[in-house]
Amino acid sequence: MKISVSMLSTYLFCSRKLFLQQVLALKEPPKESTVLGSLRHEIYDFINQSEEKIVRTIKEKIQYNELITTYKSFYSKALREKIIKNKSKIKEVNLDIVDVFKRTWPLILDEAETRAKNIFDFIQKYNVYGPELWKKLTPKIISEIRLDSNNLQLKGIVDKVEIYEDGYVPIELKTGKMPKQGMWPGHRIQIAAYSMLIEEKFKTNVKEGLVHYLDAKETRHISINPFMKEEIMNLVKEVQDLLKNQDIPNYCENKNKCVNCGLRETCYNEAEVSTLLSEIK
Ligand code: SF4
Repeated sequence: MKISVSMLSTYLFCSRKLFLQQVLALKEPPKESTVLGSLRHEIYDFINQSEEKIVRTIKEKIQYNELITTYKSFYSKALREKIIKNKSKIKEVNLDIVDVFKRTWPLILDEAETRAKNIFDFIQKYNVYGPELWKKLTPKIISEIRLDSNNLQLKGIVDKVEIYEDGYVPIELKTGKMPKQGMWPGHRIQIAAYSMLIEEKFKTNVKEGLVHYLDAKETRHISINPFMKEEIMNLVKEVQDLLKNQDIPNYCENKNKCVNCGLRETCYNEAEVSTLLSEIK
């Protein structure tokens, strides 16, 4: 069975949670963070698709202000459309659509500024425009790449990849709290797993990865090494065994993790868990 990269990070967070989700088919009730996260992914998907179109239409002597205005108008229109499309999900978690726009727009604006600056700096350096600019652009930034490997028994969607002449850099965008140093273990594992998938799919080298903590507006770096790859392969095997063996893991040791867990009620209801277990055996 192929394991998704997000399953690896859930496993590291709490193996019991992964078992409840994947074996007993329990679903966390929709949460504000999940709805906002999936909206963000839809918009980044649009951003990915529109990048080539924007770059190819850039004409000679464009000023930075014009470029950022183009990006901003593309992205704000997309954000409004995606919010309207997801209106019922947004209401389900008691959010207001205007509030969602206000909370999401700063992240999208950051992305618009990053991309506009990347393009403008490149134009200044190489003096190329339109289709030629797109052809020569480095780094190309691509969002939401789907990755899948029979060999690694892994699949997933990486948030963003920067493509340079000498290799690829996977980037994960994360909302919520940032650790004091480095990145959370689940994020580190995600970057390592995406690096392996990217190396295989694009026959390239991945030497480093980044996690961009959106709320803190800070980027953390990680170097990829062979030990991490071994760690991922071992984790994939552990998760496959967990899903196959049907033995429910114990509660996680750190009870702080249970406080915001959407499966807490069922998880601690021994009678319900035992009924669910008997149904699968
Ligand atoms: S409530 Fe705690 S032990 Fe149960 S699944 Fe959630 S995090 Fe794991």
